[in-house]
Amino acid sequence: MSDTKIVGLRTRAVNVPLEYPVKTAVGTVASSPLVLLDLQTDRGVTGHAYLFTYTPLALKPVQQTVDELAAVIVGHPLAPRHIDQLLQSKFRLLGNTGLVRMATAGIDMALWDAKAKVHGLPLVELLGGVARPLLAYDSHSMDGVELATHRAKGAAEAGFAAIKTKIGYPTLQDDIKVVRSIREVVGDNVQIMVDYNQGLTVPEAIRRGQVLEQEGVAWVEEPTLQQDYQGHAKVRDALNVPVQMGENWFGPDEMSLALSAGACDLCMPDLMKIGGVTGWLRASALAEQHGLPMSSHIFQEFSAHLLAVSPTCHWLERMDLAGPILEPTLKFKDGKAYFGELPGAGIVWRDQEIKRFSV
Ligand SMILES: [Mg+2]
Repeated sequence: MSDTKIVGLRTRAVNVPLEYPVKTAVGTVASSPLVLLDLQTDRGVTGHAYLFTYTPLALKPVQQTVDELAAVIVGHPLAPRHIDQLLQSKFRLLGNTGLVRMATAGIDMALWDAKAKVHGLPLVELLGGVARPLLAYDSHSMDGVELATHRAKGAAEAGFAAIKTKIGYPTLQDDIKVVRSIREVVGDNVQIMVDYNQGLTVPEAIRRGQVLEQEGVAWVEEPTLQQDYQGHAKVRDALNVPVQMGENWFGPDEMSLALSAGACDLCMPDLMKIGGVTGWLRASALAEQHGLPMSSHIFQEFSAHLLAVSPTCHWLERMDLAGPILEPTLKFKDGKAYFGELPGAGIVWRDQEIKRFSV
């Protein structure tokens, strides 16, 4: 099986509707722009992956970057770490970050998916792990009191033991109003995480954090600018509630810098920005070294397989950004994620829906 070769790479761009827009303190994602990858091998096995580009403005550039890279990888063995080194070398001078990192991460994911399928194994088993139910939290937006409460109630009734809400409203009182309203409907046994999406200055983050921690929130996420690791460290020093971050680390190198600065108590790398499956495995080793509980960020299908082999596995984020174009192979029941029944990462396209939302 080690002689399996890459023979093609196809991309498609879609913009899929969301049940709820992802509203944050610093901007709204109204629909979900995705680049879909199909990596073909000479064994007839195809690896699937998708990339989330946040804004439709980045959809075509990311797709085009992946397309350009097809010529680089076709003919090479189906070997993710080999291709990782090859692509790293191509971008040593430019820097493997931003849109380039997104493209190379997508290829990495599709390679691992194909590799697992060639071996007839779920990805988690190819990586030496066991598929087991994972704790999942339901991830919501900056929805305002009414909708935030409605969604939290629904999640608690569906059995979730934790939910996340995005805050950073005009005033601290608004933030508290939302958290208290959620607490009222979910009770004391459901954890509430809050996410500022980088919306506050350091002093304001400390001021709000010190009041919010009295509400018993489970973590405060990205209270200030994501690249300000010193600022995060200051907020962390001032608060008792854990500081969470990581979704914006481009590659394990940035994660390493953040951890060296003591920026957070908890970490949550994003599968795409951290560098695909290969990047995640490096990140999970860093989290283990630093003793940091590690959660996932979107990309729930692949992330389930990876969290199951991460030594400091914490929470799976349930945020279904690709739902309309995927068969629901990842299942949620009683607050846990169930996966690993199919070979690969469990990405199964709904081709009719892909056509429908094609860009
Ligand atoms: Mg976040």
